Amino acid sequence: MSRATGRADLSRIRGLVAGIVALSLLVAACGASAPDGSPTPTPDPDAIPVAATTTVFADLVAQVGGTRVRVSSLVPKGGEVHTFDPNPRDIQNVAEAKLIVRNGLGLDDWLESLVRDAGSTAPVLVLGESLEGVTYLTGDNGTVNPHLWMNVAYTELYVDRIAEALASIDPAGADGYHERATAYKATLAELDTSIRDRLATIPPADRVIVSFHDAFPYFAEAYGLTVAGNIVNVPGQDPSAGQVATLIESIRSMGVSAIFAEAQFNDALAVTIADETGVPVVTDLYTGTLGDPPADTYVGMMTWNADRVVSAITGS
Ligand SMILES: [Zn+2]
Repeated sequence: MSRATGRADLSRIRGLVAGIVALSLLVAACGASAPDGSPTPTPDPDAIPVAATTTVFADLVAQVGGTRVRVSSLVPKGGEVHTFDPNPRDIQNVAEAKLIVRNGLGLDDWLESLVRDAGSTAPVLVLGESLEGVTYLTGDNGTVNPHLWMNVAYTELYVDRIAEALASIDPAGADGYHERATAYKATLAELDTSIRDRLATIPPADRVIVSFHDAFPYFAEAYGLTVAGNIVNVPGQDPSAGQVATLIESIRSMGVSAIFAEAQFNDALAVTIADETGVPVVTDLYTGTLGDPPADTYVGMMTWNADRVVSAITGS
């Protein structure tokens, strides 16, 4: 018997007993603490299984779901979402999930065959597509850039979608999901302001950056930076010598102040280009994955990124 079937049986039995009321209240109480973006407590073993494509989205789901949901990330911490190659355990996680959460916009297209292979009929929540209030930016290859969550205000829109989706698969928990989403969005609004304030300390002449892959346009637009170029156009494909030479030329001519590299990629090329141009490089930014504490939550990761960027550029 699969674990999913076991949970379904359990919830039917619970529906028949009077204790259901007390139990729901208890679960609601556990999940009612206002999420401040810190790691969420261990969920109830009978919690609703949710699969998200990355640790970043898994954290957003956990913040909204509290102890009522049990969320797993398909791409492990430190993994690379664009080039991810699922394994049989991922099929199992997707098969068990009552909700599947992805970004869309080409970030995690591998999920589609995974869902097919798992035979899943669970709803798939696409966080990033067709959001009202978003100015979508086009990347080097002419497609829409998927990294919307690097703008904290856009992440608030992701949180709304997560609350709606959880409420729809678990109506009994709807009030709790909406309360947690509201509290978490207040935390995110503070985070958005604090990142803007931190980056405002960078002198205007020092706001031009180059990034390893094209993960920062929404971050740059929200927080007042300019992206002069990227080292790789497609994650997993190294640039040619000619492309690197062109990039080094533009780093010099555009007065680039920092090179942003990311924890989930090998930083050798970024470091070489930094050495060649004398521009500082930040090699431990987080975009598509969470990291170790204090970058083990979305709030922690974005706070870390802002601190690292400011200290690299201003030397403070
Ligand atoms: Zn990316």
